[in-house]
Amino acid sequence: MCSPQSEPSPSTERGLTALLIVLAAALAAAQQPDAVPPAGGTFDVRHYAVTLDLAVAEGTVTGTERIELTVDQPTSSLVFDSGALTIDSVRALQVGTASGGTALPFRQAAQRLIVTLPVPARAGDQRRLDIAYHGAPRTGLTLLAKRAQAYTTFSTSQWMPAVNAPEDRATLDLEVSMPAGWRAAGNGREVERRSKGAKAVYRWRQARETASFLFGFVAGNFAEATGRRGNVSLRYLGSPFSSGELHRIFRDTPDMLAFFEERAGLPYPGDSYTQALVATSGGQELAGLSHMSEEYGRSVFDDFSATGLMAHELAHQWWGDLLTNRDWTHFWLNEGFATFMASAYKERARGREAYLADVDAWRRRVEQLRAAGHDKPLVFPDWNRPTADDRAVVYQKGALALHELRQQLGDAAFWAALRDYTRAHAGQSVTSADLQRAFEASSGRDLRAFFDEWVRPR
Ligand SMILES: [Zn+2]
Repeated sequence: MCSPQSEPSPSTERGLTALLIVLAAALAAAQQPDAVPPAGGTFDVRHYAVTLDLAVAEGTVTGTERIELTVDQPTSSLVFDSGALTIDSVRALQVGTASGGTALPFRQAAQRLIVTLPVPARAGDQRRLDIAYHGAPRTGLTLLAKRAQAYTTFSTSQWMPAVNAPEDRATLDLEVSMPAGWRAAGNGREVERRSKGAKAVYRWRQARETASFLFGFVAGNFAEATGRRGNVSLRYLGSPFSSGELHRIFRDTPDMLAFFEERAGLPYPGDSYTQALVATSGGQELAGLSHMSEEYGRSVFDDFSATGLMAHELAHQWWGDLLTNRDWTHFWLNEGFATFMASAYKERARGREAYLADVDAWRRRVEQLRAAGHDKPLVFPDWNRPTADDRAVVYQKGALALHELRQQLGDAAFWAALRDYTRAHAGQSVTSADLQRAFEASSGRDLRAFFDEWVRPR
């Protein structure tokens, strides 16, 4: 369910002086080609505009991208995550011009793109870059010619150069060309749908700043069903299902959406939400959409109580998307919350016993971790290669911690605090300290002992 897999970024070291960063970059370039500074360490991306052409049968993509950024530390280079993509050119544009620009020298190393600036940038400078690229993504973007599907999963920089660090939130214009006749959904609002030769072209605009790992789309020869909850239009896409089957599988979505809105104290952050059933997926949340596997869809069709995963992915639209962990060491604020909230919905829809069965399962998993000597606080530093047990800490132990907090505070104070926390930090990156402060302010309780026991690294 929506994991960072192999590429969580180390948190950027904001405390370094500008001089040290420039020296370190120069040293890395001169002596250690693989010691590349983290992407985005010296700037903040404001906007990405991407045009992506899918050659599904060939398994390849070509793209052009404009990146608008603000420099926040003096630097002579700009570093982006670029996965296994090949960069063809980088051009710098004057602010206020639409095209042209000056070709900039660049190199690629350690899955990053390092662009050299002829004149070092100062803090506050605004820069615009045009990047042309191509590639044959093996992760991040699945291109399935036989199944007539294409969809993204987590590793955004495998199909568009970006800053992976979740703290760098930006807006996105995304245009994708795909085989004619396909249906598709992307982040935010669909602003255009047209034909171009033998291709269909979709364009979406994500106007609310979002972490880049939530950028993406689903596309394919899908059946479609639609629904509505208040002002939110709902789309259900999938293959090989009929429209009627999709409607049945996702029949709880409006009810789930209403429940999370009530618990968050905030409306769903957008005007549409799409759920897609694709060939293979462990469950992936993206801004304004999610995908799950067709096998999962069939399991829901056979047993309507099996909606935990779709509730988990929908809960991420608030906890994960609207509020995003500032770095991966606080990933439990995304995953522990989504796991807990899916079970809270289950409690509402199917009763207390169903919820308590989930709590028992979390507790048993945490006991296994302890028996194996693999228990950790929810915040732990070595997130670069998470094991299955590390993921259990973040997901199941994270959910159990929220249940225990609910027990300590009582239902009224717990849900009020959760609402206060969500409202206070909507649209922001969060850490566990933000959660503690918000819960303490709301409940009037000192929660140091709880956070020492469950959350803080020892
Ligand atoms: Zn998740």
